[in-house]
Amino acid sequence: MRIGFIGLGNMGGPMAANLAGAGHEVRGFDPSAEPPEGVARAASAEEAVEGAEVVLTMLPNGEILRSVALQAIPAMAEGAVLCDCSTVDVESARAVASQAEAAGLGALDAPVSGGVGGAAAGTLTFMVGGGDAAFEKVRPLFEIMGQKAVHCGEAGAGQSAKICNNMILGATMIATCEAFALADKLGLDRQKMFDVVSTSSGSSWSMNTYCPAPGVGPRSPADNDYRPGFAADLMLKDLRLSQQAAEAVDADTPMGELAMRLYAAFVEQEGGRGRDFSAMLPRFSARRRDS
Ligand code: NAD
Repeated sequence: MRIGFIGLGNMGGPMAANLAGAGHEVRGFDPSAEPPEGVARAASAEEAVEGAEVVLTMLPNGEILRSVALQAIPAMAEGAVLCDCSTVDVESARAVASQAEAAGLGALDAPVSGGVGGAAAGTLTFMVGGGDAAFEKVRPLFEIMGQKAVHCGEAGAGQSAKICNNMILGATMIATCEAFALADKLGLDRQKMFDVVSTSSGSSWSMNTYCPAPGVGPRSPADNDYRPGFAADLMLKDLRLSQQAAEAVDADTPMGELAMRLYAAFVEQEGGRGRDFSAMLPRFSARRRDS
């Protein structure tokens, strides 16, 4: 298949490389990142998408997606599919999908979970919104870049699933970290805490798979001095998107809102930028009840 790939950063680069490695003809555009081996360099977004059957984008945010879509859509071949894999606000995803559809193109929002490691290994999970025909056309590419693609519904459904999942994740990570900090102060051994909670009703992915306490549970960023992993900055981005969406549809999400405020303070005032999102544990350990 002929594929255009726009945005060849930490995630897009290895995703494009995997498509090229599977034998597809991939032309990529990024104003600053180098195309990976096997991916031809395009001088512009228009050049990358020309004649492509599928165009994938992996960009920092909704504003940039909207501006790239304005360049790419008029240059795309009729019947081609524009598939955005970035994490963006639901409104931008829907706006770009309707522009693409008005131009006779297919459109999907397909954000991912699995991070840079999953992008490199081809084990991402895709959460996909958009029409059936577009989904079927891109499915073989999802199978190369990932291990699972869930078709969640119409345009925007992929982004909706992603931010709801990450809102749960942000809140449960904070709850897990504050519980460890409390357990420490109660004199409870961290390993015992893990042994009980990971097999009890307080268990979660944050505790069982990505334990924020170093030396406890499976290996995680806590065992690597909290180097990401999944950076606190990216968790903050996703929590902000969840609250933007909650405001737009008048949903009451107090836990998500508090998680967003705590990650905002952590990233912007407490040295959390560039650290893993599980570094909330040393943050809580260093604090007192009224600090
Ligand atoms: P990144 O900053 O490494 O890559 C983004 C790339 O987009 C950069 O190389 C940048 O030069 C390029 N870009 C910016 N403006 C452009 C334009 N106008 N035209 C073409 N390219 C342009 O970011 P990333 O870590 O690869 O993340 C990409 C997306 O994936 C984000 O939306 C992020 O939230 C999401 N995501 C990231 C992770 C992760 O662990 N890094 C995990 C899941 C989802």
